Parts: sequence; C-alpha cells; structure tokens
Amino acid sequence: MDRELETALLSAVDQRFDDQLDFLKELVSHPSTRGREQSAQDFMAGELKERGLSVDRWQIDVEDIRHLPGFSPVIGPYEDAVNVVGTHKSKARTGRSLILNGHIDVVPEGPLDMWDPPPFAPHIDGDAFFGRGAGDMKAGLVGNLFALDALKACGLAPAADVFFQSVVEEECTGNGALACMQRGYKADAALIPEPFSEALVTAQVGVIWFQVHLKGLPTHVAYAGDGSNAIEAAIPLINALHKLEDKWNGPDLRHPDFAHHHHPLNLNVGKITGGDWTSSVPAWCVFDVRMGVYPGQSIDAMRAEIEAVLLEAAESNVFLKENKPSVVYHGFLAEGYALSEDTSEGAVASISTLEAAHTAVTGEPLGKVAITATTDSRFFGLYADTPALVYGPKAEAIHGFNEHVSIESINRITKATALFIANWCGTEKL
Ligand code: ZN
Repeated sequence: MDRELETALLSAVDQRFDDQLDFLKELVSHPSTRGREQSAQDFMAGELKERGLSVDRWQIDVEDIRHLPGFSPVIGPYEDAVNVVGTHKSKARTGRSLILNGHIDVVPEGPLDMWDPPPFAPHIDGDAFFGRGAGDMKAGLVGNLFALDALKACGLAPAADVFFQSVVEEECTGNGALACMQRGYKADAALIPEPFSEALVTAQVGVIWFQVHLKGLPTHVAYAGDGSNAIEAAIPLINALHKLEDKWNGPDLRHPDFAHHHHPLNLNVGKITGGDWTSSVPAWCVFDVRMGVYPGQSIDAMRAEIEAVLLEAAESNVFLKENKPSVVYHGFLAEGYALSEDTSEGAVASISTLEAAHTAVTGEPLGKVAITATTDSRFFGLYADTPALVYGPKAEAIHGFNEHVSIESINRITKATALFIANWCGTEKL
C-alpha cells in the first residue's frame, strides 16, 4: 500500500475516534444477553443502512440449519434470534472479498452488586472502557464498522464485496454464524475481532456443553439413608468428570498448538439446580458442564467417553446405582479449529496481510496465540474453506465483573483493520 493512503487511513480513524467511542457506548447500553439482542440489532441495522450498505435482517429458523455440520442443540426458543448482515457490493470487484464478523450477544451480567459501575451503563476511566460486552466483543464489532468508515472518509470503498455480519448465539451455540453460512454468505477470508490482546489466534479448543440429570424418589429427611440425596450424588459424578479432565490434559494427548499450555482443556460446572424443600431429601438435581476438546478430536468420540465415565461413577454410588444419570446436550457441540493447520494460499496471504497491517500500526511483529476458548471462526475454517483470522483488542474480565477494554487498543485494532481491508480487498473510488 502506498504510504500516502496508509497515513490517510490512520488519521481518518483518529478523526472519527470520539464518534466511535460514542457508538460503542450506545451499543453497550443495549443489554443484549441471549434472547434480548433485538434492540442492539435494530441499532446496528439502522447504522449499516445509513452507511449505504444493503441490509439483510432475518430470524434464524432452526429447521434451516439443523442438518448442517457444526450445528449445536438450541437453548430456548429462537423467536428473538435475529442476524444482521450489511453488504458492500464493489463496482470493480478486482480484489479479494471479506467477511467482517462479530457477535452482538453478551453473557449474563451476574449479581449486580459485584459491578461498579453497573454492567449496561458504559463508563470510561482512563484507558478503560467498562461495560458487559464492551470487550467481548462490541468494541471489535464497532471497530469493523469504523474501519470501513475510514476508507469512506478517504473517498474509497473496498474493491471487493465485503459482508459485515452482526450475529447472535456466539456465546452458547454459534448457530448465528452458521445461519449466515447457510444463507449463502461466503468470502475469501473472514476477520473476527474477538478480544485476544492484538494477537492472531492460531488455534482454539472446541467446546461441549451438557447437562447431567439426576432423578429419584423423594423422602422425608428423617428417613433419609446415606447416599439417597440427588444433590449430594452429583459430587462423585463431578469428581469423575474432573478425573477425565486430568486425563485429557495429559501431555501425551496434547495438540501441538497447545504443547506449552499447562492446562488447555477446562471443565467447568457452570450451573446446578436441585431439590424443592429444605426438609425433603432432594429427588432431583441437574448440573450444567462445559468441557474443552482439541482441534481434530471428534465430538462424538468425546461424548461417548464422557457418558461412559458418568455411568461408571454411577455404579459405585447408592443413589445413582438405582437412578442412572442421563446426559442431555444443550448448547455448544463445537469442534476445535487451528488456523495454523491451514496451509492454503488464502490463509498464507491473509495472515501476511494482517501481519503487515499490525506492524504498520504498532511497530511490532504480530503475536500468535492458541486460546482455550472457542469462537465463530470454526465455521469459516472448518465448513466453508475460508481462512478466519481472530484478531481483536485487549480486554479484561470478559465474562466476569467490571469487564473492560483498552481504548488505545481499540484504536490500534481499528487502524490495523482499516489497513487490512484496504490491502486485502484493494480499493476503488467511491
Ligand atoms: Zn466473544
């Protein structure tokens, strides 16, 4: 890219940066937890339209995607699961097309008294922009849009089609990104600014969500025998799952991208419910588990192993022996994905384009990271032959309390994204 254009794009980002932060404030103030994304999506659709993109806004129909690889069992109804895509159609179409993807859904805020300031009252303190979803990943989503704006401010547009995707369901299934694929959106590369500290994600684990249901006969606590309590019966099962976790994390089973990571696959018991009355022996208990798997591991094989471990543990428990646990899959059945294993021309070219953009902005080489979480990049990489670059700002306490994202980092990521778009797609006059 010529120096003059580079300088013009960087200063265009700076000139609009206050507007960008205002935009982010507005977006973070929409509490777009699962099932409540509509107002945030309305806002995004309006902004895309105002920028002259053609806007596609649709409700996901489970029947359209149920049969596709990568589909995850749905949690709750999909009445409010609405995706938004804004399309820029190039006149010249001389460059390489691009998907700019980000998710609008945020995870629940948890107890409000743990937050200061409140989660959906965005707040700036020094370099930190606070709010639920500010880092994960509304800052990135907004950065994608303002990177496109920077080209426009220079009198330019991408010389290839660009699809700006604001998707739902990233935090529990990934079915929002899958629905975009099913709808026909395809490009030569995808960029997803998830908040991993300005490094390129080279590998990510897969994630399995499941529920373990325990059910038996209720009794009065006065007649309760040892081990007849459904809630307490969950404990040996949880212990057995942690033993499986230890085994899966063994150095011999480790995927090469995670060779130096001390514990890549995390098992989390994220929710537990059970019982009805303090003086009744609980007859039921349900707990929700999240478990990681490596790229290349089969979800079906991992599921079979999980179920076998649970049944084996049940054999040595008085309550469970008579009341076998059942496993229900609910949410993520996400395979791992390693961009590092993609040796295609497109992957090599897109990575080197991003490296150049990152270095032009920061003066540093682009760092690489293998992450112990999943992102929507797997859909592009595994099921659409599209290299998917996850590269976004530095954020802290995502999924925790007082989530915040670095404002300087947002600025750098937006600049690098603008340079990446201009280089990857090429440019044409407006
Ligand atoms: Zn995210």
